[in-house]
Amino acid sequence: MRIGVLTSGGDAPGMNAAVRAVVRRTLARNGEPFVVYDGYSGLVEGGSRIAPVGWEDVGRILHLGGTELGTSRCEAFRTTTGRRDAVFHLVERGISRLVVVGGDGSLTGANTLRLEWGGHVDELVREGRLTAEQARLHGRLGLVGLAGSIDNDLVGTDRTIGCDTALHRIVDAVDRLTSTARSHQRSFVVEVMGRRSGFLALAAAVCTGADHVIIPEKPAEDWRQDLVASLWRSREQGRRKSIVLLAEGASDRHGEPIRSADVREVIERELAVETRITVLGHVQRGGDPSAYDRIQSTALGIAAVDRLAASSRREEAVVMGTAGPEVTVRSLAESVKATHGVERALREGRFAEALSARGPEVRELMDAWNGFGRPRPLERTGKRILLAHVGAPAPGMNAAIHAFEHAVRSRGHQPLYVQEGLKGLLAGDLVKPDVAGIPSLGATVLGTNRWRPQTAGEWTALRKALSAHEVDGLVLVGGFGALEAASGMRLPCAVVPATISNNVPGTQASVGADTAVNAICEAVDRLKQSAIGSRHRVFFVEVMGRRCGWLARSAAVGCGAELVYTDEEPITLERLQQDVQGLNEAMDAGRTVGIVLVADGVPEPFRAERLAGLFQQASEGRFDTRVCVLGHLQQGGSPSPADRLLATRLIGQAVEHVVSSERAVVVGAAAGEIRLEKVSAALNVADREARRPKFVRPMPSFKGKALYPRSS
Ligand code: ADP
Repeated sequence: MRIGVLTSGGDAPGMNAAVRAVVRRTLARNGEPFVVYDGYSGLVEGGSRIAPVGWEDVGRILHLGGTELGTSRCEAFRTTTGRRDAVFHLVERGISRLVVVGGDGSLTGANTLRLEWGGHVDELVREGRLTAEQARLHGRLGLVGLAGSIDNDLVGTDRTIGCDTALHRIVDAVDRLTSTARSHQRSFVVEVMGRRSGFLALAAAVCTGADHVIIPEKPAEDWRQDLVASLWRSREQGRRKSIVLLAEGASDRHGEPIRSADVREVIERELAVETRITVLGHVQRGGDPSAYDRIQSTALGIAAVDRLAASSRREEAVVMGTAGPEVTVRSLAESVKATHGVERALREGRFAEALSARGPEVRELMDAWNGFGRPRPLERTGKRILLAHVGAPAPGMNAAIHAFEHAVRSRGHQPLYVQEGLKGLLAGDLVKPDVAGIPSLGATVLGTNRWRPQTAGEWTALRKALSAHEVDGLVLVGGFGALEAASGMRLPCAVVPATISNNVPGTQASVGADTAVNAICEAVDRLKQSAIGSRHRVFFVEVMGRRCGWLARSAAVGCGAELVYTDEEPITLERLQQDVQGLNEAMDAGRTVGIVLVADGVPEPFRAERLAGLFQQASEGRFDTRVCVLGHLQQGGSPSPADRLLATRLIGQAVEHVVSSERAVVVGAAAGEIRLEKVSAALNVADREARRPKFVRPMPSFKGKALYPRSS
């Protein structure tokens, strides 16, 4: 089985991870991978631009931005003759299975190629360029498209490859601009990419608590008035600066483009403040892919190969996308058609339709955004809703507090806060944090505490405190302990999982976990660099998570670790022997650096330090080992965009639940959507002793069970 892979159209961070996964999965299935250089130009021109590759050829690219295969805009591929040449060059090499990573233009082109394939093959036989036997073997094209575009503009996937990384760049830039803007009382207009999609602008606005956002899908009746109203509102709320995010493709209701200079002119005229324009441009595309883009693109590449291997080439071409950590499969033709449908709706002014086609996440973010800075007067029936943390700090908790304040106030209720978790509630007073600008801060401005009531006396004391403060409902933002605390509450209660371990049952993702995985990947990238020149070194990196191995397993995919040890998968003598042998062979074959991730909750004899000693000895001089304990580095730091978005979405649903229902629920994410589950049901699927879900989600891997033998 030969499988070709190419990247086309605009480059996007994460494309390399997808290519690497396609190549290695093909090899792991005993297939023959081919890469095509420079997108469709490589197909049309053939020759050395379509080449077989091996395992090591795609080494050391997982962490690189852009696309190492190169990409292009290829006019020849838009012509029938160009596509016929492409068919010839593929069939000539015995390739009739193809993975195309690109934007909607590239996927449209790929679909056309597939539809025309049979006709081109017949014609090539008639011309004598292909034989009847080649035609018989390769009469149809098996095709999988992977959406690579930073704009997140393809219908049928909740993230396109590269979008998460672009958000990292934008949010980082806006966080920085915010601090300078605050110092000088300046306004900034920040133009972000998104020709036909406002996702990046909207998501960045939510993540940074910007003052205004202008996107193609929701033009105001009068954008100037709308802008001025937002900025005055911010002023009245005491903000010294203004940040306006503008999607490059935004226009007014009549299709007239809105440019940064227009926005600046309005601000300077109406508010008389110095206003600067920042066009982020290609900075958004560049740089190292985020952990999410590495992990998800790896999962997509693997799934694409499995699909091509398992399905007949008669079957329709598909596009594989994501729904949270899941891989989704959709008809490529329908996905492209629906995407073009959204563009048409935008052109024809059917904005509500376009917005709705963007999916539930965009609608939830839009709801949250609409609530920011727009409190309703406290209603007579307004409820007093308390936010408290239970457990260790997690990045994104501040985004949760920020979202909570606005979600509660915009519904006409009263937000309440307590310092240092539930223990703080027993000890004393409620507090009133200033939430402006806090989404970018790590940890939590409220402080946190692991304490939760366990004895009857403690429960009585806590209930007394809740009733003294006339609390009507509770939102507990924290880890496994928050779930346990919620199970004993007699008030409407919602748990928002926030822990870097991601060990709370009832959700696929917890606030803080994405930031921690990014921190590990960045640290490992540096470790690998540090080893260049020092021959043959294997790092044993201890990561957090205790007895839940999610963090270690995710990070292992994201940083291309050779091995990963967690408490869930038994560490036997036999396994260790195989692993040592695998590493020894890899080193003999020319590998110089190895990464082994070890969760800090593995049984004592297998802690990172001990394993490092064991491997060092068993390597018989082939490599040195070094131990690196990342420790609390993983808990700190500015929260990633994904964590800020998740916090905002979970809080929206948590608040909605607490003001309208009696039960205790955990508000979690499942396949990219927000789902409420009874706390008792979530605890039923938990291993209470190990403090983790009973079900262990498998991670993408090239081989059946581990990333071993060789990856980078
Ligand atoms: P993206 O894939 O990022 O949307 P483009 O729209 O520029 O980027 O498409 C990339 C390439 O895909 C084009 O240069 C062209 O070779 C091919 N392509 C795009 N649209 C079509 C089409 N309708 N038919 C055939 N090929 C196309």
